[in-house]
Amino acid sequence: MYEFLIKNGTIVTSSKRFKANLVTNQGVIIAVTNKKPKTKRVIDAKDKLIFPGIIDIHCHLRDPGFEHKEDFETGTRAAAAGGVTFVFPQPNLDPVPNTVENFKKEVEIGARKSLVDFNPIASPLLYEEGWVPKLAKEGTAWFKIFQKVAAYPYSSPASTTNTAHIYEAFKEIAKTGLRCSIHPFDKNFFEEAPRIIEKKGIPMTLSNYLKNISTEKEMTSAAYQLYYLAKKARMKWYALHCIFPDYIELVRKIKASGELDVIATAETLWSMSDKVYDVKQEEYIHVGWPPLNLNAVWREINDGTIDCLGTDHAPHNREEMMTDDPLNSHLGFPFLEWWGHIMLNEVNKGSFTLEKFVAITSENASKIFGFYPQKGTLQIGSDADIIIVDLEREWTITSERVYTKCQLNPFHNWKIKGKVTHTILRGQIIMEEGEVMGKPGYGKFIRPTY
Ligand SMILES: [Zn+2]
Repeated sequence: MYEFLIKNGTIVTSSKRFKANLVTNQGVIIAVTNKKPKTKRVIDAKDKLIFPGIIDIHCHLRDPGFEHKEDFETGTRAAAAGGVTFVFPQPNLDPVPNTVENFKKEVEIGARKSLVDFNPIASPLLYEEGWVPKLAKEGTAWFKIFQKVAAYPYSSPASTTNTAHIYEAFKEIAKTGLRCSIHPFDKNFFEEAPRIIEKKGIPMTLSNYLKNISTEKEMTSAAYQLYYLAKKARMKWYALHCIFPDYIELVRKIKASGELDVIATAETLWSMSDKVYDVKQEEYIHVGWPPLNLNAVWREINDGTIDCLGTDHAPHNREEMMTDDPLNSHLGFPFLEWWGHIMLNEVNKGSFTLEKFVAITSENASKIFGFYPQKGTLQIGSDADIIIVDLEREWTITSERVYTKCQLNPFHNWKIKGKVTHTILRGQIIMEEGEVMGKPGYGKFIRPTY
């Protein structure tokens, strides 16, 4: 007898939706059918939608090195709660995964603690030691550089402001055929902020600081330089944090010209919330993000300029975020456990279609980074990574149970429509109606198959 039947649901792909039953066995999909074979377990998905499990291309699980903020277990428990079955943890860790030994250490931690599948993103900045090809061989899906040196999270060896080093790393990466994502950043804009604030005679708060960095100019001007260097090095560029119109416009032009192989992703969408709820203290904290207008992002998702969305799940403790010194505040919000739900709410708001949801939350990432058709699709032979969705469910996000270690919730009391009711990883239910029952160690390191 086969293991699992999900019956009467509507399957959504990146191009269509249709009624069918899914049968899984030994962790893979073995039938997409109108038949209902006898199985050990059945879920009736009547009036529900069925999608591939969400792939989060950008999260910070803080493990190893910063486990007081988050770890592989707490972070991936949050992932399961948000409909995410496959994560790409970013490399600003301690130690940084910039050698085979460090990379293997992270894989070993994930294999022991992760509830969902994972692929650690490596740092290429030890290019002179020849680590780039070795890390590619170990199975990192791409490389990541933080073009910023500042307080945490930019204070690690995964960061550099040395453009010449970035170019050398690009040339090494080009030889591997992998991509490199770079957080684009021009430190001059960053360093000018205090002077501007002083000149304006306004208090040196985090809120004023963030408003005076000129983030769009800081990112876009750096992105123009990175585009030139990537083209010169003939490296496949991964344009990260495409949330500002001018930056998106650059990527759109490059894509139209075909002069450089570029993909674009949008992250830090947690800045749709400007405050977080502290579950332990039972109060809101205003951190002071400048409000981000996401209309440009939705528009570019719909015309295909932006290929994937990522959570940029970036948990910190309250004390680390709320310092007297804005230059040393740790920046970022947790997002993983609300991700699928919040994006379904955007579908209901008309920001993008159900088919686009599949494209930008799973299928495109799987294809771009070499995991298709094992991940990101509901085909016969694919891993049975599935989410079941009640698109009509109206509910309020509360903080009764928060899985992320920092116990902060940017979406407390948000009334939304659309809910991931089940997260299924390789045929096992790891979350049902908000209750995570996945086990640490069930998640696996997945290598790309180019
Ligand atoms: Zn990030």
